[in-house]
Amino acid sequence: MFAYKISHSAIPAQTALDLCKTLQPKGDAHWAELNDYYKSSLKQFANHKSVASAADQTLTRLLSAKSPAILNWMKNRNLFDAPEDDVVKAWRIYYAETFALSQYPSGKVDLDVTIETFINSVNNKVFDAKNKKTIQKIFDRSKNRAVQAVQKFRIPPAAQSQILKRIRDIDLYWMKAFATSKFRNRPQDFILWGVAYDPVGNKIQIGVETLNYLMMSEDNLMTAFAHEIGHSFDSCRWGSFYTGDFPFNTVAECLRTSESVGAKKRDDGPLAKYSDKPEFKEVLATLKSNPTCNVKDYPPPGVQADQLPESFADWFAAEVMSLERKLAPSMRADLCVDKTLTDGSSYPANRDRLEKIYLAQPTIRKELHMSSSTTPKYCSVK
Ligand SMILES: [Zn+2]
Repeated sequence: MFAYKISHSAIPAQTALDLCKTLQPKGDAHWAELNDYYKSSLKQFANHKSVASAADQTLTRLLSAKSPAILNWMKNRNLFDAPEDDVVKAWRIYYAETFALSQYPSGKVDLDVTIETFINSVNNKVFDAKNKKTIQKIFDRSKNRAVQAVQKFRIPPAAQSQILKRIRDIDLYWMKAFATSKFRNRPQDFILWGVAYDPVGNKIQIGVETLNYLMMSEDNLMTAFAHEIGHSFDSCRWGSFYTGDFPFNTVAECLRTSESVGAKKRDDGPLAKYSDKPEFKEVLATLKSNPTCNVKDYPPPGVQADQLPESFADWFAAEVMSLERKLAPSMRADLCVDKTLTDGSSYPANRDRLEKIYLAQPTIRKELHMSSSTTPKYCSVK
């Protein structure tokens, strides 16, 4: 992963693609070093005998059964013609991240201690006191700007003051010792995620992937924080944590249109199948009263999830970042990466998020010197 810095170009960028092309990958040495440390710790963990032997056995079993899952896994990584050694190496890493961690607490002392040691050592090194201070400062900047953005919105005062109170209360969640942390039941939330909003605690969890933003730029992390802050009052959370009507219906309707990001609605068609299952009664009630929420049990993979909460969080992050003087073009460089989304994903495509939400914000366009000939539709509060 790299930090992105703008190269001097005489032609103003017109689209997200143009903007992404002007960003030159250039690693930020400090964060890149920590990322290397993390990668080598992960490798070490994946090669630990209790993890590696289970991984190798699983691989042999899946290959001899010609499992479609493993063939697909190889295809996605171009491993069909790779030397066997490379396949084993890549599989061990994948197995370590995906399967070994999720077994915690496994009850097998050796495996549990290996997992604890791996996660604690990464946490202590990557998030030492100095790095925590840097990240906390970026978060504080994001939160202050978020407060300013909300103060500027012309929305009912009752809604505004509820949002402001909740935002001011948001803090970061740092892991101390893994075994007693809230990550103990979901170690992958620490290893495979960056920043993630937890509505129950009103906290933003910090995971290892936070490094990916930092390697690009501090503004990239600041924007990611603003997106998470947006989740504290998005269309899904509103019903559970606020009283009164959602004050951003105009924005929501606009984000649904194809001239904007075209946020897809949750597909409730398959819900009929669940209607006579008593164990689903509560989920059905939640889904009905929160039409833009995606919950653990619905929609299942392949069925369209609602894209409004993610689109709204991006929209809010754009509003927050538009208040920054001197905006880095890399402020959302992570979205320059083309990522294959799973069918029914709750996210619009990366390029659309960048183009139709962030780069639709008039002040951001001006700050980044985007040409005005192809301006996408901007969704405003009014
Ligand atoms: Zn999000």
